[in-house]
Amino acid sequence: MRTPLIAGNWKMHKTLAEASELVKGIREGVGGISGVEVLVCPPYQHLFPIAEAVKGSAVKLGAQNAHFELEGAFTGEISVPMLVDAGCTHVILGHSERRQYFAEDGPLLAKKVRAAVNGGLTAVYCVGETLEERESGRTAAVVERHMTEAIGKDVPADRLVIAYEPVWAIGTGKTATPDQAQEVHALIRGLLASKYDQATAESIRILYGGSVKPGNAETLLAQPDIDGALVGGACLAAGDFVAIIQAAETTVAMPS
Ligand code: PEP
Repeated sequence: MRTPLIAGNWKMHKTLAEASELVKGIREGVGGISGVEVLVCPPYQHLFPIAEAVKGSAVKLGAQNAHFELEGAFTGEISVPMLVDAGCTHVILGHSERRQYFAEDGPLLAKKVRAAVNGGLTAVYCVGETLEERESGRTAAVVERHMTEAIGKDVPADRLVIAYEPVWAIGTGKTATPDQAQEVHALIRGLLASKYDQATAESIRILYGGSVKPGNAETLLAQPDIDGALVGGACLAAGDFVAIIQAAETTVAMPS
């Protein structure tokens, strides 16, 4: 049984005052929730204060990116040891916005994933196709390429989370249908089984991301291979994010 993970990617949003308000609302909202792991990924500058704000709660802290080197002359970058120092347990890697706007590619992401897991973080590694790739029937090939480029048996399975994020569904209000998402999640589970083994593949969480909202979360999360959500827009309001976490709690309680 995989514990669902609901992760919020705050992207480049929120001043410190706004971030503090948001995390306070999340912390209060998740007080009585059980059986769901919750992760917030604020901008770097807020990591230390948000680490303080979530102390003693079930909310975990993650970053949105990391460099693969431990230290060095890499202006504007941040290292895995720095993220660990700030209290992070997770880091998002390979987000489509990093791939698209910052030219992050497979070989680079392979190094980042290894730096993260070797440094003690759980990597939330994102994969997913563009609209053009989906419409030309290349979804499976693209997802397989993203998986093959950065994930291998040397990546410890207990430090790995995969996020399937169809690019056409991110920030667009268009969500993959539960069937569309389940089909790709099952494909990813199969790819994990071929890299590791079936039992290990069954233990790795695969999140769905792409316009997840309180209104669509439950049907997505009820799919057998959808083990949580990576949430962008809807994680910026505590009420919406908590409602998605509650939807995950409801699916845990459902008979399988
Ligand atoms: C994301 O950026 O990871 C994401 C899923 O965004 P949104 O929920 O806004 O589509």
